[in-house]
Amino acid sequence: MQELMARHRARGGARIGFVPTMGCLHAGHLSLIREVVQRGLFPVVSIFVNPLQFGPSEDFGRYPRPFDQDRRLCEETGVACLFAPSPDEMYAAGPSVYVDEGDLSLRLCGASRPGHFRGVLTVVAKLFNIVQPHVAVFGRKDAQQARLIEVMVESLNIPVELVVAPIVREADGLAMSSRNRYLSAEERREALCVYAALSEAASLYRAGERAASRAIESMASRIGDSPRASVDYIAVVDYRSLCPVEVVGPGTLYALAVRIGGTRLIDNMLIRPDGEPAL
Ligand code: AMP
Repeated sequence: MQELMARHRARGGARIGFVPTMGCLHAGHLSLIREVVQRGLFPVVSIFVNPLQFGPSEDFGRYPRPFDQDRRLCEETGVACLFAPSPDEMYAAGPSVYVDEGDLSLRLCGASRPGHFRGVLTVVAKLFNIVQPHVAVFGRKDAQQARLIEVMVESLNIPVELVVAPIVREADGLAMSSRNRYLSAEERREALCVYAALSEAASLYRAGERAASRAIESMASRIGDSPRASVDYIAVVDYRSLCPVEVVGPGTLYALAVRIGGTRLIDNMLIRPDGEPAL
């Protein structure tokens, strides 16, 4: 893969646009690929369920891997090159060198998923070195992940331009995720409380409420109405530092992690620079 990409670069081919994924592709992933295609980049996708970013009691073993369907979707979307290594290939050297971030990675999802972001940053650094993309596209669905990759790229001087694309949602508002397929029909209905909580927070913001504590109360009460939902965290933070804020405004990230039955769902809303809440 590294040689292939080096040859592409040496030939003077189009700039490489890269979308790393864990597969089980849905419209959210496809929107990232389309972003690459629309920019006239050479579209490269990776599918790798990265064992390093799963905790011992998490869903690594049962994570869905519909590879043939994924390959077809990649072909249909115009992907030029699909990289799908095995864990043995990726970690042939044994995982003994890691990329670790010691501040933002401990917050939000990092608190309940110890080692998760170390796994993510390590594999993304490896993928960047293998693919050597000019541009890489990530989804704001995983806002903390996107921010940590920005921090890694800046800290380690990795020569790649990052793009963070909007969240793609189902018609009723549920953020698309490969894990949504774990939800039973009843859980799927209840999962809407996450989007409802963020929508109510957006309404409060539009009505002029600027206290983060009021937003958190409102979101907690909305999630509390759902008997199958249990809160992992509800946070209102500065997107750059991921530190809690008291007063909300442009650059504020509203972030939730909620368990519905056995499935952990995350979602967020960002107040854009122009002051509009982006869900
Ligand atoms: P994953 O396969 O879950 O590792 O996700 C691969 C990439 O797709 C990451 O950059 C995610 O943030 C992005 N992604 C996942 N779900 C969505 C979504 N609903 N909308 C936009 N991007 C998404």
